[in-house]
Amino acid sequence: MNLAIDEIIRFSDCVNVVPTSPTTLHLAYERTPASSPLRRLIRDYVLFEAHVDQPDFDDDVHELPVDLLADVVKEYHVIKKDCEFKSVEVWDAYRKQVSEFAKCHYHSHNDEHPACDAKQ
Ligand SMILES: [Zn+2]
Repeated sequence: MNLAIDEIIRFSDCVNVVPTSPTTLHLAYERTPASSPLRRLIRDYVLFEAHVDQPDFDDDVHELPVDLLADVVKEYHVIKKDCEFKSVEVWDAYRKQVSEFAKCHYHSHNDEHPACDAKQ
């Protein structure tokens, strides 16, 4: 899964498009558990980047998975509370792209998938 996540992020940056197709996102949400790193990645694409150069996004919002919209709202509140704690503007938290997070932010590491080399 970690390699697939890395490839989605790399490809998205390469073609300058974020995954927001309702059909694709329904498939992803129907086939992954709530704790899936893929769900976290999709949530963050919607939260941080879907508004940028995605002219169809406003039309697609009402067709997104309900669980995804709930995840977006929950994460928004986590970010808002963090900004209040740090006394920074909430808007500043959204001046970030998914690819700017640390390499392992969307990875799952365990006995089968050890932590990535920090030099990668
Ligand atoms: Zn990793």
